[in-house]
Amino acid sequence: MKIIADTGKCVGAGQCVLTEPELFDQSEEDGTVVVLNDTPEGELIEKAREAVNVCPSQALSLQE
Ligand code: SF4
Repeated sequence: MKIIADTGKCVGAGQCVLTEPELFDQSEEDGTVVVLNDTPEGELIEKAREAVNVCPSQALSLQE
């Protein structure tokens, strides 16, 4: 599984970071998402799914 982030869609809401700071961070320049680990394993897989669901701009998706 791989996390795909479309920074063009990201509005910098930070919901993904709040959901899992091990997987996501925000750019210091414009607040858009930075994926720290795009191939999560174990418990982080569920967190990645949660982050995709809470993102308000559908900027995150998963490649299964
Ligand atoms: S939750 Fe979505 S819009 Fe907000 S920072 Fe993360 S990817 Fe961007």
